[in-house]
Amino acid sequence: MESWLTTMPDGPLLVYGPNSLAYDFGPNHPLSPRRFGPGIELLRAVGAEPGLAPEPAADAELEWLHAADYIATVRRFSRDPGGGPTAGIGPGDDPAFAGMHEAAASVAGGSIRAIEAILRGDIEHAYHPGGGLHHAMRARASGFCIYNDVALAIARARCDGLRVLYVDLDVHHGDGVQTLHYDDPGVLTVSFHESGRSLFPGSGFVDELGEGSAAGTSINMPLEALCGPEPWLAAVRAIVSTLAAAFGPDIVVSQHGADGHFWDPLAHLSLTTTAMGEAARLIDGVAHRYAGGRWLATGGGGYAIYRVVPRAWALTWLAGAHRDAPERLPDDWRARWAGDAARWDEAPAGEAPAGEAPLPDGFDDPPDFPSGRSLSLAAAVRAKETVSLVRTVLVPALLSVAEDRGWWQPDGEGPEIVTRAAPPAEAPPAATYPTVVASLTADMIEELSLSPRVVAPADPRVAWELLRAALRDGAVAAGAVSGEWLVGVALAAPGAAAAPASIDGVDRLLALGVAPEWRRGGLATAMLRALVDEQDRRGRSLVALHTVAERDVFDPLPRAVRRGVAVSLARASGMTVTPAPPRIAAVDAAACLAVHVPSSASPDLRSRAGDWHDSL
Ligand SMILES: [Zn+2]
Repeated sequence: MESWLTTMPDGPLLVYGPNSLAYDFGPNHPLSPRRFGPGIELLRAVGAEPGLAPEPAADAELEWLHAADYIATVRRFSRDPGGGPTAGIGPGDDPAFAGMHEAAASVAGGSIRAIEAILRGDIEHAYHPGGGLHHAMRARASGFCIYNDVALAIARARCDGLRVLYVDLDVHHGDGVQTLHYDDPGVLTVSFHESGRSLFPGSGFVDELGEGSAAGTSINMPLEALCGPEPWLAAVRAIVSTLAAAFGPDIVVSQHGADGHFWDPLAHLSLTTTAMGEAARLIDGVAHRYAGGRWLATGGGGYAIYRVVPRAWALTWLAGAHRDAPERLPDDWRARWAGDAARWDEAPAGEAPAGEAPLPDGFDDPPDFPSGRSLSLAAAVRAKETVSLVRTVLVPALLSVAEDRGWWQPDGEGPEIVTRAAPPAEAPPAATYPTVVASLTADMIEELSLSPRVVAPADPRVAWELLRAALRDGAVAAGAVSGEWLVGVALAAPGAAAAPASIDGVDRLLALGVAPEWRRGGLATAMLRALVDEQDRRGRSLVALHTVAERDVFDPLPRAVRRGVAVSLARASGMTVTPAPPRIAAVDAAACLAVHVPSSASPDLRSRAGDWHDSL
């Protein structure tokens, strides 16, 4: 593959060209190419010049994810839009139009060529504002989307064997991308959206976890209408960096639909451009810290195409350019588009008289926007509960407790690597059969290197730092040691999901893992037994919550097998296995709880282990 770039762009490679305008469902459709006028002009005003013009992807590329007969159907409509409705194409969201195959294939081609430029190393970041058509399914158009350009870009990275983190910030659930990669453990999809109970496409609930060995790689954060920018941004902050640390992506792909905005006519989350820009900067940071800087950003929905979409696009590009937005929108840009904005952008009911929706002054919205009385306090409370549930079920216990306890911060600066751990991809040479060390101390860790894939996070250098901080803070651990390598760890510390401050006398199992080359030899049972014995000596209980998050992220076993292993390990180590609390079982049916209470325990301590169960 040859590079076609003559100059390096001063910021993300901007993907846009004449074919972008061809994706046009007609004059009364909300997803109008009119958005490119004010959008591209504002991008130019902040320094972005189009550097890659989308051209149609080949059928062979579309067929990575789309059915050949579906592509044939789209081609037929493309030549003759008059046929009867089929495959999601027809009157409604996805009307047929002449040239629709070429137009939709060009959107896909734009995202595929952009990710190839990143994979070649020509550029770090690319931004494709016309992309992000995240609803398209294998054999069906849906929600203004014909071919799924983002899912295809992900598939392109998968052709190279790369691990992909996908973050979807559109107000609608990223159902197509989720579905098309639902059984692939190498793709982690994370979608923030208005709940499917009130909005299209009606999916995106927390219990959509991924399939088979990919269980745990589909993350959904449904938010209630009118939740507003703060709970939304708090949700993004609470999970994206942590999940990236756990998963270890090689590249980040994101979808930045602007339809979550307060002024958007189609949805009700009541977000701001300020929050959207902040989220884009967070994703840029995640790409740099966890994915070697490789980041493809796309647009998506957004139907207030003068007052919101151009500002959201500019802020997304600026995040990748590592520059702040200017204080004000350019006067000539505002003068150029004020009339069109008044004509086309509908003001939300009661907010401004029809035909009088002035363009805002700044890229960011004012701090008091939208006003508190247009937001729902109940939705904000619900958002917090959902964040807590998602973290409990989908974030490895070690990482969520490490954050709560201050052992590690996923979005802080990279760790000062003083490590004795192996580089992420490198396994230590097989040496002598490991010895189980019943009580691992912080001092012992200093002398040992940590093997890859023993505990979360994905990078063993970060895991080593985290383990050391945990042991220095009083966590207890058993280990398996081969030569100077730490090849297995069982770690426990006070701390429950919803009550991190701890329940007296009860410790939580935070991690139990063995390096791949030493698995199936009884080491995990031996370490867990040692930990249980240690708890007996200390007169403390041990509880463990097994969820879909606890897996080898690089080569996960099928969900049912993982659960079977967890249950037999717990039983073989003298723990009692019980069903998970209903709140958790409702989203992760295979979740279970294991408890060990010391035989010497007072009735009071016995009941406190129960408190821990209730606190989840
Ligand atoms: Zn960057």
